Amino acid sequence: MRILVVEDEAALRDALKRDLTAAGFTVDLAADGEEGLYSGREYPVDLAIVDLGLPKLPGLDLIRTLRAERKAFPILVLTARDRWQDKVAGLDAGADDYVAKPFRFEEVLARVQALLRRAGGWASPVLACGPVVLDLRSQTVAVGGEAVDLTTFEYRLLEHLMMRAGDVISKGELTERLYEQDFERDSNTIEVFMGRLRRKIDPDDTLRPIETLRGRGYRFSLPRDPR
Ligand code: CA
Repeated sequence: MRILVVEDEAALRDALKRDLTAAGFTVDLAADGEEGLYSGREYPVDLAIVDLGLPKLPGLDLIRTLRAERKAFPILVLTARDRWQDKVAGLDAGADDYVAKPFRFEEVLARVQALLRRAGGWASPVLACGPVVLDLRSQTVAVGGEAVDLTTFEYRLLEHLMMRAGDVISKGELTERLYEQDFERDSNTIEVFMGRLRRKIDPDDTLRPIETLRGRGYRFSLPRDPR
């Protein structure tokens, strides 16, 4: 999952990048509102974290502009402590949730994860599709009740596919969402990782949870459990 952080305080921006990266996200940074608008338009963003007090283009204007352009990804705003007016204004502009500064990273992470899973249509942090169960909180995967040992990249790939279970996701989109913008991209590596992931979660080739749609991409096709 790819997160855009728009924050003018360098120390906070860098801390968010470090902590979100450690939590398994791909992170793009913007230091002012104009840069944030550019990145929100150009990159395949899954969620944006936007500080309201930004140079060049204020956070509220940034959010309004993105929403006016039909950018629907969840937006978490960072507000000054005790400024309830900022929280209301942020939500009114089109943000989905807020965190007041100073915050603990755990709070930001919990809100980010909740927004992402709701955007994917999941009510619970445990994504269950029949025998395949992915727990977003512990970042663990089990198949038929047995834990499966995945590498960080394999986990992120599966998380992305299951978060949007039922949707077709192109190889290009997966590559863009799982790698940094300056990473040397090669969409063939996705095929290699996909092969390994399939062998780990479906060693007997009986479940076939991930479909390949020739020329279109991949789809996690086991139905979601009703909740
Ligand atoms: Ca600021």
